[in-house]
Amino acid sequence: AKAKGRDNYQFFSDEMNIELTRQLAMEGELRQALQRNEFELYYQPQIDLTTNQLVGYEALIRWNHPEKGLVPPGEFIPVAEDSGLILPMGEWVLKTACEHIKLFNSTGLLPAHGHVAVNLSPRQFHDPNLVTVIRDLVTTADIPSQQLEIEITESLLMDNVESTIRTLEMLKDLGIILAIDDFGTGYSSLNYLKRLPIHVLKVDRSFVMDIPHDKDDVEITAAVIAMAHKLGLKVVAEGVEQLLQADFLKENSCDYAQGYYYGKPMSVDDLYKNIGHYEKW
Ligand code: C2E
Ligand code: CA
Ligand code: CA
Ligand code: CA
Repeated sequence: AKAKGRDNYQFFSDEMNIELTRQLAMEGELRQALQRNEFELYYQPQIDLTTNQLVGYEALIRWNHPEKGLVPPGEFIPVAEDSGLILPMGEWVLKTACEHIKLFNSTGLLPAHGHVAVNLSPRQFHDPNLVTVIRDLVTTADIPSQQLEIEITESLLMDNVESTIRTLEMLKDLGIILAIDDFGTGYSSLNYLKRLPIHVLKVDRSFVMDIPHDKDDVEITAAVIAMAHKLGLKVVAEGVEQLLQADFLKENSCDYAQGYYYGKPMSVDDLYKNIGHYEKW
């Protein structure tokens, strides 16, 4: 930037200014959105590949913006994470998911022992109150803790392995199911994986999407499934969009699948409208 002279530097500075202004504006809007209850949880089905039965859902946050309409999480989660707003937002997600588990249990939207998986951001995971918050929410909602699954990403494991393991142990002791999200995209070593008290590994969509055409992805996915099973973990394949991918995953003993092939994330209203379809899986 230096060699290109002052004008160029100024250009980047303006860009950064615009970005910062945009972030600050969104931060204010997010704060308001929390108070005004503009967030909503969508639910995407997860299917047992052996029985073709619904086993649970992943909860995915949506923002019903009064002017912009439905805003996807990729646009506001990073801002919430940077500003710390992810803590109250994340607690709302956990509380709402627990209440929905209770509701789904009583209305047949979840099978017996079915689960709802909730995404936790790194900042949330490192919050010293996390375990207490989750324990209280599960108790208040009066649901079996085994029905709540927590998804964390590999990147978070790099921060402080020892404290991460301690937190995971406490959650596991509560009976919460623990999953590693986006597996294969981060930097966690297989050595850490062995030491982590987790139950589930989610193979990232980037590996699944070019199956069966991309031979590397085929080999990697087959190897990850086999390795996970040797470590005693269940495997969820993410982003399954086609029958050929589902077939490949079945042949390679993958346990569960999630993706547009089986169902998009849906509002609770749409879950009720679509419940009849689940039998055909
Ligand atoms: P993720 O946890 O990896 O969630 C899966 C994303 O893939 C979702 O995007 C989902 O809609 C999308 N997806 C599912 N199946 C398919 C498929 O077959 N094809 C394609 N192309 N996409 C598929 P979404 O809902 O936009 O969420 C994006 C990310 O935002 C999530 O990625 C997660 O990292 C984050 N996120 C969502 N909800 C929450 C939340 O409540 N808390 C936190 N901390 N993060 C969240
Ligand atoms: Ca996830
Ligand atoms: Ca994922
Ligand atoms: Ca992802």
